[in-house]
Amino acid sequence: MQTIRQQIISLLKKREMNAREISKALGIQEKEVYDHLEHIRHSIRPQKKKLMIYPFHCLTCDYIFKDRKRLSRPGRCPKCKQGHIEAATFKIV
Ligand SMILES: [Zn+2]
Repeated sequence: MQTIRQQIISLLKKREMNAREISKALGIQEKEVYDHLEHIRHSIRPQKKKLMIYPFHCLTCDYIFKDRKRLSRPGRCPKCKQGHIEAATFKIV
C-alpha cells in the first residue's frame, strides 16, 4: 500500500497534472494536495528528482505568478484584481 505522497509522486512522474486532477485521482481535498506537494518538493531532492511547477496565470490579463513561493492557489490577480486564475500544473522530472 502506497502512501498518498508516494501515489502523488508516481502520478506526477507519468504526467503533468494540476491540484484538482490530483485531488480527484486520489479522493482527497485540493488543499491537502498542496500540503503534500510542499513536502514532496523537498523530499524528492535526494533522489535527484525535481518538482516542476508550471505557474498559475491570470486568465484576464495573462499575469504569471512565477515568483510565488507558496504552491497553493492565489485568490486574485495582483495586477488586474480579478479572480480568474488558471491552475498551476506540476510534474516530477
Ligand atoms: Zn490579471
